Amino acid sequence: MKGDLLKLLSLRDIDAAILEAKGKIRTLEGEVALIERRIAAEKEAFSKRVEEHKALRLRATEKALEADEMDEKIRAYQHKLDHDIIPYKEMEYLREQVELLKARIDEVEEEALRLMEEVEEDERKLREDEKAHEDRLSKLEEEKAEIEGKIARLKEEIARLEAEREAALRDIPLHLRSHYERLLEMYLDPVVPIVDGICSGCHLNVSQTTVDRARQGEVVTCDNCSRFLYLESVVT
Ligand SMILES: [Zn+2]
Repeated sequence: MKGDLLKLLSLRDIDAAILEAKGKIRTLEGEVALIERRIAAEKEAFSKRVEEHKALRLRATEKALEADEMDEKIRAYQHKLDHDIIPYKEMEYLREQVELLKARIDEVEEEALRLMEEVEEDERKLREDEKAHEDRLSKLEEEKAEIEGKIARLKEEIARLEAEREAALRDIPLHLRSHYERLLEMYLDPVVPIVDGICSGCHLNVSQTTVDRARQGEVVTCDNCSRFLYLESVVT
C-alpha cells in the first residue's frame, strides 16, 4: 500500500520536474525571440547607416557633375563667341551666360570638393560603425547560441524525464494510474499532503477516516477534489 503511495509521489515529482523544465524553455524561448528582434533592429539600423552614406556620396557625385557641366558650357559658349559668327543678341546672351556661369562655378566646385571630403570622412566613420555593428551582432549571436544550448539541454532533460515517467507509470496499478492521469488534466498538483486535517489542494477538511487510512500509508483521495492525499509523517 505504502509502496503505491511512494510510486505516485515519485511520479508526481517527475511530472513537476517536466513542467518546470517546460516553463524554463518557454522563458528562454522568449529571450531568444527578444534577441532576434534586437538582431533585426541592429541590421536595420546599420543598413540605414549605409544608405545615408550612399546618399551623401550621390550628392557629392551630382555636385561634381554639375561643376563639370558648367565648365563644359562655359567652354562651349566661349568657343562659339570666339569662333562663330552669330547675331549680336545671341552674342550678348552668351556673354551674359558665361559671366553668370563663371560667377557660380567656383562656388559649385568648392561645394563639390567639400562634399567629396565629407564622403571620405564619412567612409572612415562608416568603417568604424561597421566594426562596432559586427561586434554587437556577434555578441547577440553568441548570447542567442548560449540560450539555445540551454534549451537543447533542457529538452534532453525532458526526454530523460519522460522515459523515467514511462517506467514509473508501468510500475503503478492501472486504476491509480488512470485516476492520476485524470487529475493531471485538472490540476498541476495531483498528489498533495494533508496538513492539519486539511487537503492542501482544495483547502477543505478531510474526514477523520481518510486521515486514519492515510496514516496507515493507504492511497486515499480527497472527497472534495479527488486529489491523492498523504501524510508527510508517513512518507518521510
Ligand atoms: Zn481536496
